Amino acid sequence: MVKRDYYEVLGVEKNASADDIKRAYRRLALKYHPDKNPGDKEAETKFKECAEAYEVLSDSDKRQRYDQFGHDGLRGAGIHDYSRMNWQDIGSIFEDLFGIDDIFGDVFGGGRRGRSSRGGASRGYDLETTVELSLLEIAKGTERTIEYTRQDLCSECSGSGAAKGSKPSKCPACGGRGQVARGGGFFQMVSTCPQCRGTGEIISNPCAKCKGSGREPKKRVISVKIPAGVHEGQAVRISGEGEAGTKGGPPGDLYCYVHVKPHPFLQRDGADIIASVPISFTQAALGGLIEVPTLNGTEELRIPPGTQNGNVFRIRGKGLPNMRSGRNGDELVAVHIEIPRKLNAKQQQLLRDFAATEDKTVLPESKGFFEKLKDYFKNNGK
Ligand SMILES: [Zn+2]
Ligand SMILES: [Zn+2]
Repeated sequence: MVKRDYYEVLGVEKNASADDIKRAYRRLALKYHPDKNPGDKEAETKFKECAEAYEVLSDSDKRQRYDQFGHDGLRGAGIHDYSRMNWQDIGSIFEDLFGIDDIFGDVFGGGRRGRSSRGGASRGYDLETTVELSLLEIAKGTERTIEYTRQDLCSECSGSGAAKGSKPSKCPACGGRGQVARGGGFFQMVSTCPQCRGTGEIISNPCAKCKGSGREPKKRVISVKIPAGVHEGQAVRISGEGEAGTKGGPPGDLYCYVHVKPHPFLQRDGADIIASVPISFTQAALGGLIEVPTLNGTEELRIPPGTQNGNVFRIRGKGLPNMRSGRNGDELVAVHIEIPRKLNAKQQQLLRDFAATEDKTVLPESKGFFEKLKDYFKNNGK
């Protein structure tokens, strides 16, 4: 999916202040809030798009990278992949990123508990990053070191959120179930406990380091193996390298998206490689050896006498591996004939002499064309 400009998403100017951005985000988040647009997929998409834009533009470092390099500048910055998330989870992310305050209170007030529906344990969020690969790396497969920041278990409290020497206690409002019943009689509504937000626990003495969230941002460096033959936009999933889960839940995954760097001479068509190579008109007429670019360097290719403009020659097995069959594609070399723009006196004479020797029967196409032309005018264009 093509990502829109973050400023455009939030409808603010490039020089908008942090307050302007916060206000714009809050307004849009309330407008597209899934509670207000039940079942409306478009509103949900917009809601997520705004969350991503806000995550970037509200962080001076990420905003600067974005201003300077656009979306490319954020590769590996560990921006959350909101599109893959349940919208309620976005509330939890925002809680981690920005803390709870009155601005987000009414945006996420009702929904900030997707991750901890029962017992509180839930899986951590997925993260995504992008690796840029050359065609040669794609031909051979490669290994990349990826550095990113993720929400990890807090090193001080090991994720419990409670200060050292203390423990979370059972929530008195729901008795630890995380849910409370509202209303009476026939229609009893069960909803998430507002006091513990569904976790079933109350932390009365929160850990100073993570302020009770049980998580802290940590830098992480991992090595990722990328198989040969991957395509633009494909992702390698690294299991368990996303954000930490909560209350003992498993961690999320890291998705490593592949972006193929453009090659100056070669293009990709599935497993085949296409090269466009200029040749002179004398090479085309007489045939000979030409040098063509390949994934590994260059190679000599013999072209036959009488080669025509646009002829395509196939070098077998010099393409990319096909991920399914494991076989290599081919390289297709398309030649285009360059007609000299300038000739010196000697060359001109040589060509005039050549033209004088030209037997029209060896140029059947031209002959047909000029004869038809002559006939046409002989009959006064009738
Ligand atoms: Zn902690
Ligand atoms: Zn409770």
